Formats: sequence, structure tokens, C-alpha cells
Amino acid sequence: MKKIQMVDLKGQYEQIKDQVDSSVLDVIHSTAFINGPEVHAFQKELEDYLDVKHVIPCANGTDALQIAMMGLGLEPGDEVITADFTFAATVEVIALLRLTPVLVDVDPDSFNIDPEAIKKAITPKTKAIVPVHLFGQSANMDEIMSIAKEHNLYVIEDNAQGIGANYKFDTGEVTKTGAIGHVASTSFFPSKNLGCYGDGGAIFTNDDDLAHTIRGIVNHGMYKRYHHDVVGVNSRLDSIQATILRAKLPNLDNYNNARRAAARKYSKAFEGVEHIITPKVEGNGCGTDHNTICDTCNCHVFHQYTLRITNGKRDDLVQHLNDNSIPCGVYYPIPLHSQKAYQDDRYNEADFPVTNQLIKEVISLPMHTELDDEQIDFITKTVINFVSK
Ligand SMILES: *Cc1c(COP(=O)(O)O)cnc(C)c1O
Repeated sequence: MKKIQMVDLKGQYEQIKDQVDSSVLDVIHSTAFINGPEVHAFQKELEDYLDVKHVIPCANGTDALQIAMMGLGLEPGDEVITADFTFAATVEVIALLRLTPVLVDVDPDSFNIDPEAIKKAITPKTKAIVPVHLFGQSANMDEIMSIAKEHNLYVIEDNAQGIGANYKFDTGEVTKTGAIGHVASTSFFPSKNLGCYGDGGAIFTNDDDLAHTIRGIVNHGMYKRYHHDVVGVNSRLDSIQATILRAKLPNLDNYNNARRAAARKYSKAFEGVEHIITPKVEGNGCGTDHNTICDTCNCHVFHQYTLRITNGKRDDLVQHLNDNSIPCGVYYPIPLHSQKAYQDDRYNEADFPVTNQLIKEVISLPMHTELDDEQIDFITKTVINFVSK
């Protein structure tokens, strides 16, 4: 059996090696390292793929979020509601901009921000909601967009884990995540579903004025050469990363299909096993069965395949998998509201029952595009043997 990895970037590279190697060399020979034609071409191709009017590439997914918030003109003291159960980058940039992060609980089935919790957290100072499409599945955008409309709030989608996922609205309309809110961010960190070979990120929006503002912000607040109208940042995707992303983008749907196929095999093996809750697929992007992982709808792109272990033995399982050379991850072990940097008197433990439970139960299994049946079989058997003993 091939050695099991949490993410197998090498196996994926080998399949596109010729194209990647020659296009990287072409960039080097062109010396157009920054803002070159490859970056523009990638931007256009991603706009087409997502069906969004503007993609603004930048240096990483954390910058993308920060720049999106700067572009919206949010000001110190403005409250921004986001999920307690997510990667710290989401709340970090809110705090960095001296906005006030307001963390709220999540839904136990989707792991995504709970619209009811959003409603309760809204105050006259609330200006924006940041849903994170966690682990590759869209947050409940029907509810979130309707809350935002009612209270006149911006919606900033953190799509770092959801690129390529579809969201099907109650009306039946299907849209890619990241093309729904006022603005969205994504990351091309190597392990993300569309990853480059270094750092990279992008901001998406359908709003022409906001896109114009953001294009200046990423470039030192410059709209005319050496005229700085606003305080900006320096955040760029370089041409080498862009050319790698151009090689990978046409494969993104296949990559996500491979992830979904692996997820389907995992869930089938775990069906009916006591103490294991498999990831729920909301089924919203899918015309077929609720909770089945179909191979075409893109309603979940499985950035992570995350189980809940309900017998209190999650940490022992982590140890057991490690002992058997099976890598795994706990995303995330500590709620953001308990992190020293983000504590706030406004929080009450009773406000976070779901997050407080999930951090004790979740475990993410190896998930990437190169998992084979032998590996999946070994992983599932090792998990089941341990949990059922
Ligand atoms: C990876 C990630 C980010 C940050 O992306 P970087 O490119 O690493 O800065 C932000 N939010 C979420 C949910 C992420 O998973």
C-alpha cells in the first residue's frame, strides 16, 4: 500500500507535471514575474469558472478577507459576525482592522454558521456577516442573504475551503459559492482544493465599484500611478503561481469529484457504526437524495472529511491512527471565543453549545485527490475496529 498522507500534492503534481514544468519555465524566461499576462489570464479564467464579474488576485486568503473588508469601508467599532468554529484567519483580520468580531455558534450537521445565532447577535452596530463555507460545504446562504437584506448588512463569504462548490437556492437557482454575497475571498494555499505551489489568494465580487476600489487597495491604494487615494496594502499573486493555477483550474471539478468519491466510500464504510457520525451533506446543491454524496452536483467539495466521534474517545482514536501511520487532523480543537486573542466579555459559554461539543468530537481523515481504495479500506477498517471495540 502507498504511504497514506493527509494531503498528497506530489501524486497530483505528477499528473500535470509536463504542463506545469514548461509553463513555469516560460514565466521565468519571460521575466514577467509580477502582474504579468499569466495573472490576467488566470483572473479571467476564474471569473468564467465561477460566473462572477470580478476576480482580484492577491497574496493569500487572509489578505483577501482583510482587503474585502477594507474595500467595503468598514470602520473601527463596526461589528462583524462570524462563526466560532473556523480557522483563526477569519476573525484575525476583523480584529486587525479594529472592527469588533462577534463570534456565534454553528449548526451541528453542517458545521456552518447558524442563522438563528446570527439573528440573536445583531445589534445597531452590526455591519457585516462572514459565513465560512467550512470543510467544503456552503453555509445556509438563503437564510444569511435574507437576514443581511433585512438588516442592511454586507455578506463577505470566506470561500477558502469551498472553491468549486455549488449552492442551490430555495428557488432552484444554482450558484457557485463565492459568487453569492457582496464580496468573497479564497485561498490558493497548497492544500486547498485549488492550491498553488506557494501562497496565493483572490477576492471575488459582482459589484463594479467595489472591484475598482479593491484593485486600488491591493496596489498601495493607487488608482493612478503614484497617486495614493486611500491607504492600501501590497498583496499580489505572482505569475509563477498564476501559471500553476491555470494548469490546475481546468481539473478543479475532477479534483472535487475525486474528493467526493473518497468521501462517499468513507461514509459507506461507516454507515450504521455506533459512535460515528458521518458528515451530513445538506443536499441543497443536489437534485437527488438528501444526505447522499452524489458524484455530480458539487454541493460539497470535501476540503475536509470530518467525522464526529461521540463516545468520548476522539483523542484516543487520533493516537491509534497515528500508531498505524494514518495521519489525521483535529479542525478545530479550540473554539475561537476561548482563544486568548479573541476573548470578549460579551460571550457566555451557554451561547456556544455546538462548538463546545464539536471541538471534542471532530476528527478529519486523509482527504485529497489521490486516495485509492486500498488506502480508504485500511483507514476505515482501522477506525471501525477501534471505535467498535
Ligand atoms: C486557509 C484559510 C484561510 C486563509 O488562507 P491563507 O491563504 O492561508 O491566508 C482563511 N479562512 C479559512 C476558512 C481557511 O481555511
